[in-house]
Amino acid sequence: MGDDELHARLKAYEGRPAAVAGTGRDPVNAPMIRHWCEAMGDRNPAYTGPDAIAPPTMLQAWTMGGLGGHAGRARPYEELLALLDRAGCTSVVATDCEQEYVRPLRPDDEVTFDTVIESVSERKTTKLGTGHFVTTRTDVRVDGELAGTHRFRILKYAPAHRKPKERRPRPVVNRDNAGFWEGVSRHRLLIQRCAACATLRLPWLPGCHACGSPDWDTVEAGGEGTVFSYVVMHHPPFPAFDPPYAVALVQLAEGVRIVSNVVGVPYDEVRVGMPVRLDFRRYDEELVLPVFQGVAACGPGTS
Ligand code: ZN
Repeated sequence: MGDDELHARLKAYEGRPAAVAGTGRDPVNAPMIRHWCEAMGDRNPAYTGPDAIAPPTMLQAWTMGGLGGHAGRARPYEELLALLDRAGCTSVVATDCEQEYVRPLRPDDEVTFDTVIESVSERKTTKLGTGHFVTTRTDVRVDGELAGTHRFRILKYAPAHRKPKERRPRPVVNRDNAGFWEGVSRHRLLIQRCAACATLRLPWLPGCHACGSPDWDTVEAGGEGTVFSYVVMHHPPFPAFDPPYAVALVQLAEGVRIVSNVVGVPYDEVRVGMPVRLDFRRYDEELVLPVFQGVAACGPGTS
């Protein structure tokens, strides 16, 4: 079904009933007025005492079906919603309401109401997605006399497609650290070692921080380590990351430290001192990163 055909079918529901001969579950009454005023912080004296009226904005409250739902909902409205569902507009959000007050409601007034499908918009694209606004108008009466009207607008829409998952940021590879990333691509964690004084360094740097020598070779990490410190990321969520997750400063058995993710254990079981073991994880067709598998806590009887 094309957009025009759908809209024509939707328009055909304008003027048809959404609820017929509804009756308020309770007469207008002082306890509900009091609770409303307390919830709203409204101390207007017009809403208390022997000549009390109900706050006009309670108009809809007297027509509501409660947790049991809308028993009086008419078939055309159900059909309209089903038609929108079939057109892919499966989500719904209330957008706004307007009320007009004709006469005040007072305790003991018995409310009746009818609701009509007033309008169905053409196809609209919003931030939430594309769909149709449906406006219903409820006429609220007491003893057959109009007391007020309540217009309620919803958007029935097809949720906008979320963007494809973004890729994880790329590491910045330069002349000084290219050897490190080349090692990672071969699933080897290479630590720089000063050729003059044998001090290990990670991350890679152009010179030795102990003796200043620019000469170096590498040793391969054995893969054993412990969590030296960690944080759990909850917020803000970055694209390509699924919080919460644990980011740790891992102390390698060789003595140097590396920032990485702890994986394989729940984020809230990561602890300082926890043993971890080096692993390599492929994130996409070109990105492999060193990560650390958490080693679950020792069971009872071990020391
Ligand atoms: Zn050195």
